[in-house]
Amino acid sequence: MITYDYLYDVIVVGAGHAGCEAALAAARMGCSTLLLTINLDAIAVMSCNPAIGGLAKGHLVREIDALGGEMARNIDATGIQFRVLNTRKGPAVRASRAQADKQLYRLRMKKIMENQENLQIKQGEVTALYLEGSAVGGVDTRSGLRYLGKTVIITTGTFMRGLIHIGLNNYPGGRAGDLPSLGLSDQLRSLGFEVGRLKTGTPARLDSRTIDFSKLEPQYGDARPVPFSFSTQQITMPQVPCHIAYTNPRSHDIIRSSLDRSPLYAGVIEGIGPRYCPSIEDKVMRFPDKERHQTFIEPEGLDTVEVYPSGMSTSLPIDVQIAFYRSIEGLERVEIMRPAYAIEYDYIDPVQLHATLETKAVANLYHAGQINGTSGYEEAAGQGLIAGINAALRSQGKEPFVLSREEAYIGVMIDDLVTLGTKEPYRMFTSRAEYRLLLREDNADLRLTQKGYDIGLVTESVHGEFVRKREHIKSEYSRVTTTRLSVDDDQQQFLSSKGINDLQKGTTLEQLLKRPEITYADLAMLDNVSRETPPAVQEQVEIQVKYKGYIDRQLEQIERAAKLEHSKIPPEMDFVAINGLTTEVREKLKKHRPDTLGQASRIPGVTPAAISVLSVAIKAWV
Ligand code: FAD
Repeated sequence: MITYDYLYDVIVVGAGHAGCEAALAAARMGCSTLLLTINLDAIAVMSCNPAIGGLAKGHLVREIDALGGEMARNIDATGIQFRVLNTRKGPAVRASRAQADKQLYRLRMKKIMENQENLQIKQGEVTALYLEGSAVGGVDTRSGLRYLGKTVIITTGTFMRGLIHIGLNNYPGGRAGDLPSLGLSDQLRSLGFEVGRLKTGTPARLDSRTIDFSKLEPQYGDARPVPFSFSTQQITMPQVPCHIAYTNPRSHDIIRSSLDRSPLYAGVIEGIGPRYCPSIEDKVMRFPDKERHQTFIEPEGLDTVEVYPSGMSTSLPIDVQIAFYRSIEGLERVEIMRPAYAIEYDYIDPVQLHATLETKAVANLYHAGQINGTSGYEEAAGQGLIAGINAALRSQGKEPFVLSREEAYIGVMIDDLVTLGTKEPYRMFTSRAEYRLLLREDNADLRLTQKGYDIGLVTESVHGEFVRKREHIKSEYSRVTTTRLSVDDDQQQFLSSKGINDLQKGTTLEQLLKRPEITYADLAMLDNVSRETPPAVQEQVEIQVKYKGYIDRQLEQIERAAKLEHSKIPPEMDFVAINGLTTEVREKLKKHRPDTLGQASRIPGVTPAAISVLSVAIKAWV
């Protein structure tokens, strides 16, 4: 190995969604950063669906943006259909989703990376870590060059020992068209890491010219697309529709009669697949009574004929794929441009990580993204950002940065991963967050932008804009709570049209806004100042007023849990020596090595009684 004569602060391995955020974060925080990836033309590639966001995933994207990450701005600049989901439900579960022009998404991210100060991007496959004692000191590449780094972040996605399956044929690959990463996971195993095997799959890509769209139902995006980023003013890309199609009993017969050639059902695939994103053969088998399954035919871009039939992933043989897709109404003549496939890959159980995403076994080594057993671009990007921030802070000799469960979905996800580990692909859901009324998409900036600024990620101009918004919300909230109505005839007429005839004189705007039939927009009919308030401020004041009771209750719960949550467990603590713990609890604590009492309390089998014993033992230890 020839050693390259430079010591980087941070080396990032891989340029998927985790790697891009990690490298940008470290470089933006002033660290000399190197990103190495197998193919420089495959930066931020969307391996599966050409879309960002969705339920709970939209929350992650907004949080990444609020902290100074790139994903939201990238989709705002390249999105071709934006929709806010769950608009009829409460604000906690509303979520943004956008279709991307897949190639533009990739190209824009590459440009951002190329132009980022302190960041070098280079093509190279990392085959091994270079170790200095029990810490990482750099990486070795297949071309024979060793790069030295104070910290290393691995974000290899589905590439480690990747094996692609199409029917009973299989071959090594990181994803379709890409080579796998060989060697790295063997070395990690030899260093004592527990390495597992997971599986995921993707649908075929179809030629839109061979689809009869007149037989399908169009689905348009929102008339006024709402950007993901708090700093995007407007979406300027042309917007296009998706189309809805359905499988039918004949499609299901084709699938059922071919299961002996399915690698999944023939037992060729060992890795565990995503429970919440099943293949079409799984859906047909799990729900035998269902007569049809829906698919959205999603455009992959403005300048391509390729389309993506969402929810139709399969690893069935290619001849079965052709027959199956052609059995769908409107797709009778469809041509497959890229076959569907499943992929098995190595992952490292994330229970072997600290909440900073640094590995417990090797100092200064961080893991982020699908390598940690997650599935999804947004989950990967959120982890990449946190790993990038922490690697940067470590190389600068500063305190680590951890988001707690009450602060962010990113905090919930990482806490789930490092506390519980995962044996199947992990994806984010709103139901995973216990304080979801506080962790909304709409207030991600209020929760996180100050933190992003404090660590040097959020720019002065974005921060300045944010501070102005925060102050405006505060003053408007206070005005609404103190302004009393003097209802004149016109106002009374308007209120009557809303079914309100019992208003007391001196009622405050807040009291009126609390009523279910009144929105902030209605206040504008009664009050000049409300009319002038920017929509983002209106939204926050309305939510804060309407949900005050629930929000206060969640804040009280957080306060009660805070002591336990943040009590640190000394890293050198010997759990085996603690009297009063059962052998099972001792073993679990020894394996998981939780950093806080809060984490310990979430390990299955660690009882409240065990937490009390542990809490006393910590006091005696320190
Ligand atoms: P990736 O995006 O996979 O990026 C990994 C990067 O690391 C690549 O740039 C690669 O070149 C580089 N790399 C790998 N090894 C090395 C090395 N040794 N040296 C240097 N560079 C290296 N997600 C869903 O949410 N739903 C789905 O249904 C879904 N289906 C999928 C189906 C398939 C077939 C695939 C491949 C992925 C699917 N995904 C799905 C997952 C989604 O693509 C990933 O979760 C996401 O891309 C992970 O991001 P990442 O940054 O961790 O890794």
